[in-house]
Amino acid sequence: MNHPPALGIFGGTFDPVHWGHLRPVREAGEKLALTQIYLLPNREPVHKPDASANTKQRIQMLQLVCQHDPLFTIDMREVNRQQKSYSLLTLQELATTYPGQRIYFFIGMDSLNSLSEWYCYEQLFDYCHFVVTRRPGFEFDPVTTQPFLSRIIENPQCAPQQEAGNILIFDTNQLDISSTDIRQRVKSGAEIKSLLPAAVAEYIHQQKLYQ
Ligand code: ATP
Repeated sequence: MNHPPALGIFGGTFDPVHWGHLRPVREAGEKLALTQIYLLPNREPVHKPDASANTKQRIQMLQLVCQHDPLFTIDMREVNRQQKSYSLLTLQELATTYPGQRIYFFIGMDSLNSLSEWYCYEQLFDYCHFVVTRRPGFEFDPVTTQPFLSRIIENPQCAPQQEAGNILIFDTNQLDISSTDIRQRVKSGAEIKSLLPAAVAEYIHQQKLYQ
């Protein structure tokens, strides 16, 4: 179903990274025959309060993921940029770095519902297709997504004809996992092992994060 060459990008705070991030994205990425998905940690979250782990720790957790899974690579451009992590800037840079490559931008359903609040969101469609993974507790919102309803393709069976501008919603397996819940569980001494890669759970334990 791929329309090569193409790359996937997936941005987030990843505080910490968990299976709810990785598994649905891998599943949708396989449907698009992507062989490379870049994980882009935010420098300074635009849409949420400060992270509890510092940037170095968030990156080290992502490095552990990438060491165990060659599908994923870290892209440091948002961390290294001396300003907020606006997706438009990231996409413009990627379009320059990888000319002619189709870009699939992965987001969860909650992010799709708030996409119209993103900085210059209409311009984002010039640079990428969005790939949306479903998430428990976040139903598709036809009101907030109304401005771009015509761009949505549910469960596409082939890659879109256009180079950019569509929103692909895949019926990926839904995992009821969030970083917030993991942070709260650690604080209360609850188990987190099934929620994220073992190496990341071990890192959280060693670094005494979220306590
Ligand atoms: P927090 O609980 O701290 O708000 P989070 O778990 O939502 O964090 P983020 O790093 O903010 O994680 O999310 C990055 C991206 O991953 C967003 O597009 C979000 O929609 C998506 N995402 C996070 N968790 C899931 C999940 N369980 N299923 C599908 N998408 C998810």
